[in-house]
Amino acid sequence: MAKYKLEYIWLDGYKPLASLRSKTQIKEFSSFPKLADLPIWGFDGSSTQQAEGKTSDCKLHPVAVYPDSTRKNGVLVMCEVYMPDDKTPHPSNSRASIPDDPDTWFGFEQEYFFFKDGSPLGFPKGGYPGPQGPYYTGVGYKNVGCVAREIVEKHIDICLDAGINLEGINAEVAKGQWEFQIFGKGSKNAADQMWVARYILARLCESYGIDIEWRCKPILAPFDQPLDWNGSGMHSNFSTKFLRDKGGKEYFEKLMAAFKKNIDEHIAVYGPENHLRLTGLHETQSIDKFSYGLSDRGASIRMPVNFIANGYRGYLEDRRPNSAADPYLVAGRIVKTCQSVPTK
Ligand code: ADP
Ligand code: MN
Ligand code: MN
Ligand code: MN
Repeated sequence: MAKYKLEYIWLDGYKPLASLRSKTQIKEFSSFPKLADLPIWGFDGSSTQQAEGKTSDCKLHPVAVYPDSTRKNGVLVMCEVYMPDDKTPHPSNSRASIPDDPDTWFGFEQEYFFFKDGSPLGFPKGGYPGPQGPYYTGVGYKNVGCVAREIVEKHIDICLDAGINLEGINAEVAKGQWEFQIFGKGSKNAADQMWVARYILARLCESYGIDIEWRCKPILAPFDQPLDWNGSGMHSNFSTKFLRDKGGKEYFEKLMAAFKKNIDEHIAVYGPENHLRLTGLHETQSIDKFSYGLSDRGASIRMPVNFIANGYRGYLEDRRPNSAADPYLVAGRIVKTCQSVPTK
């Protein structure tokens, strides 16, 4: 028997942006615990905007489990929040509303900024670095700063140790901005991994005195200079079994019509402050327009380069979700819109 440190992770009730919360309980197991071995737990919802003080208990139901190589016998336990009856999902539980579909796959590209003392990492005190250009996929101290790469490397290893399907990383267009990509099969799987990967990154940065800025447009152009800085997205690549196996132009056009019809429902869950980012500039489409195109990074939805040649088959990239969006809400909305289109 060994004592395991179970880190229960959940989303709080803050709006418009839920934050990650976590706490540890120690339990004895004969080997690394499986999901079914992990007990339901609870927390004080009155401290997380999820309950009133008089009836403060909220319940934590484990939904995914990952080894935590940063701690001896460490376990990361992603949870859904339930009401005290253990039957009703809490209103803040965005995962519970995702339709179950093992054959829908998602790949999320998470962009983010490292922030230190109120500015992006590598910005000179009280000022701005040189304009965008050399930072994207850049190398060298003047382009990526001092500790960013060290943190990114550690993040890769902790995620891989956890079994998270992290597919890659890159330095992004703005200074202090980076990206990682995560892929998962199943309508909830990639989003579970994304929340845990965000947790690992935010926790890792604590000892560097650095925070992750998830908001999509943290640097606005100052009035006295023409520089403008990219925002952060969470491009959401998706495919259903039908889109991968059959596809076809006729089906694709019906699917895009459904996305167009539901533009408001999609934008509503694609992250706060998205009007600051979806301006039609910096490889985005305007927030109030819907468009699609082959290899078009100025479109709402981009078809990857071989999509048409493959008979309108494969995956699609919805470029609108932003870096702060809840991947559970994004996945749920995309699955619902896909399911609204008949495949016959
Ligand atoms: P780019 O930056 O050019 O948009 P990336 O390589 O950063 O492209 O991201 C592509 C994403 O597409 C990855 O997250 C990958 O997992 C995802 N992806 C690839 N194939 C599929 C698929 N069949 N279904 C869903 N997502 C996919
Ligand atoms: Mn990318
Ligand atoms: Mn990117
Ligand atoms: Mn992309």
